[in-house]
Amino acid sequence: MTQTLHIVGGGMAGSEAAWQAAEMGVDVVIHEMRPKVETFAHKTGNLGEMVCSNSFRSDDDEQNAVGLLHWEMRTANGLIMTTADEHRLPAGGALAVDRDPFAETVTAKLKAHPRISVSYEEITYLPQDGHWIFATGPLTSTNLGAAIQAETGAEALAFFDAIAPILYAESIDMSKAWMQSRYDKGETEEERTAYLNCPMDKDQYEAFIDALLTADKTEFHEGETAGYFDGCLPIEVMAERGRETLRFGPMKPVGLTNPHSPENKAYAVVQLRRDNALGTLFNIVGFQTKMKYGAQTEVLRMIPGLENASFARLGGIHRNTFLNSPTLLDNQMRLKSKPHIRFAGQITGVEGYVESAAMGLLAGRLAAAEILGIDLPTVPQDSAMGALIHHITGGAEAKTFQPMNVNFGLFQPVEGLKGGRRGRKDRYKAYTDRAKAAWQDWLSHS
Ligand SMILES: Cc1cc2nc3c(=O)[nH]c(=O)nc-3n(C[C@H](O)[C@H](O)[C@H](O)COP(=O)(O)OP(=O)(O)OC[C@H]3O[C@@H](n4cnc5c(N)ncnc54)[C@H](O)[C@@H]3O)c2cc1C
Repeated sequence: MTQTLHIVGGGMAGSEAAWQAAEMGVDVVIHEMRPKVETFAHKTGNLGEMVCSNSFRSDDDEQNAVGLLHWEMRTANGLIMTTADEHRLPAGGALAVDRDPFAETVTAKLKAHPRISVSYEEITYLPQDGHWIFATGPLTSTNLGAAIQAETGAEALAFFDAIAPILYAESIDMSKAWMQSRYDKGETEEERTAYLNCPMDKDQYEAFIDALLTADKTEFHEGETAGYFDGCLPIEVMAERGRETLRFGPMKPVGLTNPHSPENKAYAVVQLRRDNALGTLFNIVGFQTKMKYGAQTEVLRMIPGLENASFARLGGIHRNTFLNSPTLLDNQMRLKSKPHIRFAGQITGVEGYVESAAMGLLAGRLAAAEILGIDLPTVPQDSAMGALIHHITGGAEAKTFQPMNVNFGLFQPVEGLKGGRRGRKDRYKAYTDRAKAAWQDWLSHS
């Protein structure tokens, strides 16, 4: 059997995967459909094209989880990060780049590598053998999407994300909120207290609806279908359909009793649910939204108990092809039903250029190690890379899985440090110090 690694898609993830595998000594073919087949967002035939903003976000590797991912990728000689550094533009603490020279350089470096060749073609099937990484991104071509769906089942591949905001558990005011499942349903105490509830009286509810109706919203990108399904309507669209719609939908107050004020029946209740096994993150149930980020934080902090909420990620609805990775992929990013195929990048359920490139870096290294017979230890969960791969391949709730940005809520807590906002600086430094050591140790094995 051939030892060549085939990578489908030469975006953020595919470019990084190819570079990593080739640098480890494996021959790579990148199969890229552009410029022959276009997407609505890409504008060139370059590899590593940034489709929208020109920012890789924060470059602070001590206090920010994205900055930490930058650091981990630089330490692994990452193509995307080292090329970004060469084309850096002034942007304060963020890493912004001159996008065209950036992508042109990524393309030139890949084409100049003696172990890499590029084949400009659309791949429309899942091959039966060989070594493959599929990194076809949020705009995976329709034919390939159908082939993936045939393999995984219709339920396991989504074509839109509908992201409800996710916030840090520690930033919720529990003197107003309480834990209880509707009608105390559940066999165990854990199930009976699975939801976190935030109550509203009539005035608070009416003010909240007014704020939703007047908030700034984002439009769909040109070429995106605005036909989201009724099952995941944005909350502001529900509010437009009638002031009471939310009170009979995701904000219904029935079956819940506020222990802080048992005699007062709440007029409406916002429910939150655990978003990860660690219990550090909660999502707001049914609150997918197209409100602009600034408006979102303002409106959501009107919810009693969430006045000081700190958000791990804000909500959104986008055209986005992604797998239900917690059920489909193993911890090496291999498709459980066809382990010669790996997935990488945004299609695995991470979100953003940096996270996608990071998952490409891991997939490239893991595939190359397999081909070369190197036995790599599991990616350490204490590193940013490890926290992310652990989340998408098992740590996240499979039933409600939606794409995720890297954030400190995905990290296992460091024992003995102060919680809350006051202890944040020390806590983040402890996370990043621990992550760097774990990541360097893992790299030393390949
Ligand atoms: C409209 C839009 C705006 C976005 N804005 C931002 C932003 O501002 N910041 C941010 O961080 N993230 C943004 N994202 C998310 C962004 O797409 C990802 O973060 C990142 O580009 C994903 O990397 P990737 O390698 O997984 O996919 P991509 O970079 O999209 O690369 C996938 C590649 O696969 C190719 N391909 C697809 N199907 C096939 C096939 N069948 N055969 C061969 N090749 C194929 C595509 O042509 C593409 O080159 C945006 C996404 C979209 C859709």
